[in-house]
Amino acid sequence: MGIDIVSNILLAPYTTLKIGGLAKYFTVVKTEEQLVESCSWAKKELQRIFVLGSGSNVLISDEGFNGLVILVDIKGRTYKPGENRDEGIADVKAGEVWDKFVLESVNKGCTGAECLGGIPGKVGGSVVQNIGAYGQEICEIVEKVRFYDVDKKDFDEYSNNDCQFSYRQSVFKGDFNKIIVSAQFKLKKDTELVIKYKELMEKFGNTKPTLPQVREVVLELRKSKSMLVDASDPNSTSAGSFFKNPIINKV
Ligand SMILES: Cc1cc2nc3c(=O)[nH]c(=O)nc-3n(C[C@H](O)[C@H](O)[C@H](O)COP(=O)(O)OP(=O)(O)OC[C@H]3O[C@@H](n4cnc5c(N)ncnc54)[C@H](O)[C@@H]3O)c2cc1C
Repeated sequence: MGIDIVSNILLAPYTTLKIGGLAKYFTVVKTEEQLVESCSWAKKELQRIFVLGSGSNVLISDEGFNGLVILVDIKGRTYKPGENRDEGIADVKAGEVWDKFVLESVNKGCTGAECLGGIPGKVGGSVVQNIGAYGQEICEIVEKVRFYDVDKKDFDEYSNNDCQFSYRQSVFKGDFNKIIVSAQFKLKKDTELVIKYKELMEKFGNTKPTLPQVREVVLELRKSKSMLVDASDPNSTSAGSFFKNPIINKV
């Protein structure tokens, strides 16, 4: 399958803020081969690259982007048992919708991502941002990340440590030389759920919630705060939180 590069595409519809001018060039990649080909094309044509997932964490200028926008839409999710009996390993491609992965994991009885349900975006962008919510962060479950190194023209893998995760940060943020194609997550199976977030603890009290119950309550809370992308809720036309939660020492 070759690549299809089109010109002068309005970026606004590709973002949750519905803002953004024209991309000089635009392409959707569904395979690693298409990604490699698109990057080679950009190099040959001396075009800068901007990578896009679901556009839920970007604010694109009205002037648009003078280069090639690559929308990563590589799909696929596989699960296998981990080294230990109580672990499962999920290999998820960068173009998968994050919440579909969360739902599937919950349905399989795997814990580790249930509090991150309802966060808009794709798996690639979620790793870039080290998404977090309701007491969980993606960095707690990332095992490995596979990416294409545009300069080296080769694929490479980073361990969790190499990703240099911190609060809403990773080594990938702002680096369009490394394009994520998949991530491997280590999830726990059949273990007791640990609820760390105050709002969730208040909701569940002394009861022991099941995984689907946690997911349901997280989605309810998110909906009440317009933190689910919902066409019928104008307040959800956003890019999520504009502020970081301050972390202060106990006084
Ligand atoms: C209503 C709403 C609620 C939200 N709630 C939360 C929340 O609770 N917690 C939270 O952490 N975030 C939240 N967000 C922010 C956002 O959903 C996440 O950051 C999401 O993971 C971004 O994914 P995306 O696919 O939309 O990335 P995009 O917005 O498309 O891209 C984000 C950044 O990642 C880069 N990128 C995307 N894909 C790749 C790739 N494959 N390889 C390399 N770079 C890539 C882009 O270039 C860009 O710099 C929210 C956003 C909205 C709109």
